[in-house]
Amino acid sequence: VQGRLDLLKQNTNNTVNSLLDILALDLAGKVDAKIAKGETIGLLEGIPFGVKDVYMVQGTLTTASSKLLKNYKSAYTATAIQKLMDAGAIPLVKENCDSFGHGSSSENTIFGAVKNAINPELVAGGSSGGSAVNVAKDYTVFSIGGDSGGSIRQPAGYNHIYGLKPTYGRISRYGLMGYASSTDCVGPLAKSIEDIRIVLNVMSGKDTKDQMTYASETISEKSILNHEPIKTIGYFKSFIENDAIDPQIKSDFLAAIEKIKAKGIAVKPLDFFDPNTLVSTYYTLTMAETASNLSRLDGTNYGNRIEAETLKETYAVTRSENFSEESKRRIVGGNQVLSQGFSDDIYLKALALRDTISERFENNFNDVDIIVSPVTPNTPPKIGKSLKDPLTMYLSDGYTVGFSLGQLPTITVPQGTETGLQITAAKNNDELVLKFANFLK
Ligand code: GLN
Repeated sequence: VQGRLDLLKQNTNNTVNSLLDILALDLAGKVDAKIAKGETIGLLEGIPFGVKDVYMVQGTLTTASSKLLKNYKSAYTATAIQKLMDAGAIPLVKENCDSFGHGSSSENTIFGAVKNAINPELVAGGSSGGSAVNVAKDYTVFSIGGDSGGSIRQPAGYNHIYGLKPTYGRISRYGLMGYASSTDCVGPLAKSIEDIRIVLNVMSGKDTKDQMTYASETISEKSILNHEPIKTIGYFKSFIENDAIDPQIKSDFLAAIEKIKAKGIAVKPLDFFDPNTLVSTYYTLTMAETASNLSRLDGTNYGNRIEAETLKETYAVTRSENFSEESKRRIVGGNQVLSQGFSDDIYLKALALRDTISERFENNFNDVDIIVSPVTPNTPPKIGKSLKDPLTMYLSDGYTVGFSLGQLPTITVPQGTETGLQITAAKNNDELVLKFANFLK
């Protein structure tokens, strides 16, 4: 811990904007004291980690990188974070991100755009950009991000580290600020598969405070060394044969496929929806869900209330002054697709399409054990470009959002293409994802 703190102190000006509050200054000596007293220490004792600023950690500010919650202090601790602390890990820092998870670049934040760990002129990716950069720069051993449509996988790819979105429901969302409740997932970012495996095991499990959680088995160190169960993998032709993909990412991906074949694994090209259909289905549903989730933030119970003459005006002024342009775009869009006259044509259609997408995933997983894809169609853009062009930003999520709609386990590994390879398995097969990631190492 001391080593990481020293590193953090040397970077107190934090020119990459990845850090918000440093939490653990008084904890560093506690592990040594425990050992000196002969007390048993936990699996993660003394390991410092980062927390995306959308998780409650009691007594700390949890701002969601928003103006609205700039001064909000958590009243309790999220289940996933508590489990890590119970295993001895130390939450060291809160991490900058896109406000309420809305974004793919970590520029939609009141704390300044997070800069890419490899090239600071480029975006860090998002929304868990601070978390990816902190791991890449060794400020934290691992970080806990949140992934509703790619927010762990895409910044992991942009900063050349690992990032896992587990099966939906494997880890409790209690204490994670809700963005899109039907796709929100808690997950780790780290520099090794082994770290990802250990942290996943600690956080997993049924939680009575999140009714979507289920009990899962611990994934052993030995089991991920055995790739034998993986005989056939597939990839979506629609993700590779389109005009939007960066030519370098395409040729790197095809070369990675050839390497996998050379290792004795069969590879099948698969038919699937085009990425733009996945993007429109995802954004229709997640805008509806975020409009509903954020309706509670009207300045009454939480947040930076701005008084006006009437209660109604108070709500209006509080929300319009405090939400970012991007969050407002989503709230307005979400309320529109949910409203009478539009919901049948837009929202219900998207829900039906999501069911078809899930069925197609199931069919595909009858033929293959794993699906691989690039993480993104593009390389990271320069800082300052993305916010001006929200549609391009949404379309850049085309390879990650489908797997979120399917609630599937999926990991970014930092190889194959400039922004990594994405490895996905059928629901509850998180172990298979780690096996294949380890096999490609
Ligand atoms: N970029 C996607 C979005 O803006 C995903 C964000 C996320 O996973 N939180 O919705």
